[in-house]
Amino acid sequence: MTLDIRDITIIGAGPTGLFAAFYAGMRGVTARIVDALPELGGQLTALYPEKYIFDVAGLPKILAKDLVADLVAQMRQFQADEQLGQRIVALEEDGGVLTLVTETDRFPSRAVIVAAGIGAFSPRRLPHPSAEPWYGKGIHDRVTDPKAFSGQKVLIVGGGDSAFDWTHQLMDHAESVTLIHRSDRFRAHGSTVAAVSEAAKAGKTRVLTFHEIADVRGADGKVTGATLKDVKAKTTHDIDVDVILPMLGFVSDIGALAEWGLTIEKDEIVVSSTMEAGRPGIYAAGDITTYPGKLKLIATGFGEAATAVNQAVHWIYPEKKVNPGHSSNMAIFGQKDD
Ligand SMILES: Cc1cc2nc3c(=O)[nH]c(=O)nc-3n(C[C@H](O)[C@H](O)[C@H](O)COP(=O)(O)OP(=O)(O)OC[C@H]3O[C@@H](n4cnc5c(N)ncnc54)[C@H](O)[C@@H]3O)c2cc1C
Repeated sequence: MTLDIRDITIIGAGPTGLFAAFYAGMRGVTARIVDALPELGGQLTALYPEKYIFDVAGLPKILAKDLVADLVAQMRQFQADEQLGQRIVALEEDGGVLTLVTETDRFPSRAVIVAAGIGAFSPRRLPHPSAEPWYGKGIHDRVTDPKAFSGQKVLIVGGGDSAFDWTHQLMDHAESVTLIHRSDRFRAHGSTVAAVSEAAKAGKTRVLTFHEIADVRGADGKVTGATLKDVKAKTTHDIDVDVILPMLGFVSDIGALAEWGLTIEKDEIVVSSTMEAGRPGIYAAGDITTYPGKLKLIATGFGEAATAVNQAVHWIYPEKKVNPGHSSNMAIFGQKDD
C-alpha cells in the first residue's frame, strides 16, 4: 500500500530517529518514522532496556527503557506516523519524491533521514537446532522484566558484558544462575567479571568455562533442561533449567542502504557537517554516520538529528530558515512567540 506523502521519513526509531521525529514536529513539518523492529527505541529497547545510562546530558542516571519512554512522549507531542515491523528494502525516486519501500508498503516523502544505527539487527541465536522450538517458551534473547525470573533456574550463555551483567543482577532473585562460556576469555568489564567470580567462589552462582549447549529439552510447552558439553574434556552432563538467556551479541546488516548511491565506508554513511549523505534530500544521523572525530553515542546522535532535520526542513521549504530559534520562545509550545 502507498501511504500519504510526508515531508520527512526517518529510517530507524532508535534514540536518534525518535529525537529527529520530535524535531520535525517542532519545525512544523510532517514526519513518518519507520523501523524494522516491532518496538520503538533501537538498541536501547532491543539490547539493554534494563541498563542504566549515565551520559545523556541533564540526566544523571536513567534506565535505557525510561529514556526511550521519554523520547517517545516527546515525539508524540506531534503526529509523526509510526511504522513498526517495517524493514526498508529499497528507495525509489520520481519527480523529486523519495519513496521508501518495505515488503508490504511504500512511504513517499520529500526528504529522508537515515538514522539506521548499525543497520537492521537481530540477536544472534543459539546455534543448536534443538533450541529453536523453545524461543519464547523459556529461551529469551533479551531481558525485559528481571523479576519474571524470580525463583527460577536460569542458564546464561556468553562471555560479554550482557552475560556477566545479567548473571550479577539475577543471582539474588533467581533460584540458581549458571553462566557458561565456550572459552575462559571474557569480553566483559573487569569489575563485573571479578564480582561474578567472587560470587561463584561463595557458591552464589556457577561459572562454567569451556562449556556450550549441546541440547535443549522441554515439556508441556516450556524449557525444562539442557545438556551441557565440556568442549575441553569432551564430556556432557544434564542440568535442569527453566530459563535460558543466550547473550551472544547480535548480527546486523545495513542491507539496501548500501545500494542508494550514498558514500559508504565500512557500513557507515559518510556525511558532511550538515549531515548530507551524498544524494539530494537524503540526510543521515546517529550511529550509521561517519566523519572525522565521530563518536557513536546517544548524545552525538541527538545533535546530529537536530542538524539533519533543520537542514532537511530548509531544503524542502527554502523559505524556512535552517536555524530553528529557541524552543523556550516557541508559540508551538505555548510560549511567547516564534
Ligand atoms: C549494551 C550497550 C550499552 C550502551 N550504553 C551506552 C551509553 O551508556 N551511552 C551512550 O551514549 N551510548 C550507549 N550505547 C550506544 C547507543 O545505544 C547507540 O549509540 C545508540 O543506540 C545509537 O542510536 P541510533 O538511533 O543512531 O541507532 P540505533 O539505536 O541502532 O537504532 C537504529 C534503528 O534503525 C533500525 N533500522 C536499521 N535499518 C533499518 C531498515 N533497513 N529498515 C527499518 N529500520 C531499520 C533498527 O532496527 C534500529 O531500531 C550502548 C550500546 C550498547 C549495545
